[in-house]
Amino acid sequence: MKENSNDIPMFGGTISYEAFGNLYLNITNQCSASCTFCIREGCDGVYGYNLRLSREPTEEEIISDLEKYELSKFKEIVFTGFGEPTCRFDIVLHITEWLHKKGVHVRLDTNGHAALMNPEMNVVEKLKASGLDSVSVSLNAESEEKYNKLCKPRYEGAYKAVLDFAKEAVKTGIKTRMTVVGQEGIDIDRCKKIATDIGATFKVR
Ligand code: SF4
Repeated sequence: MKENSNDIPMFGGTISYEAFGNLYLNITNQCSASCTFCIREGCDGVYGYNLRLSREPTEEEIISDLEKYELSKFKEIVFTGFGEPTCRFDIVLHITEWLHKKGVHVRLDTNGHAALMNPEMNVVEKLKASGLDSVSVSLNAESEEKYNKLCKPRYEGAYKAVLDFAKEAVKTGIKTRMTVVGQEGIDIDRCKKIATDIGATFKVR
């Protein structure tokens, strides 16, 4: 692969894409789960954008990409994409801080494993301090057993970590939603109750 003048390989793939009045950020293809329903298994992207990254973009590359846009026109800037954003937790914090200073609404779509990947810090407090406005946490199942079968998390205790992440987010004052992918065998009503008992809103994706 060609290299640029800083000896960093040239970048291939989509860092940001527009849809539904939002701007979505794709900063990594890493993930701490292997969900059976993950769209990464069946395609290379969404809405015609290639989300397979030839390498992870640097913080500077993400900011330079964001500078192409009139950010105030978007309802939300959303960390999502073909991977789990919090696999690059420091980058999420830095980019959120940068966006927050621009006065735009920032949302993180996450599997809720950030505390397992970063056990040395209070991840939700860090997110709040960075200026994150809202979070959408994948609940996906009403029990640990079903969650483990469906999402195949790399960490033990992942289901509890997801619930704790959402509880902490609600407590910290981050607008919190929990979501489920409509799958056969998943009790949507029980999932909804789990989410609303925590104080989150609920959505079936
Ligand atoms: S958490 Fe998201 S990115 Fe990771 S495997 Fe599941 S659906 Fe795919």
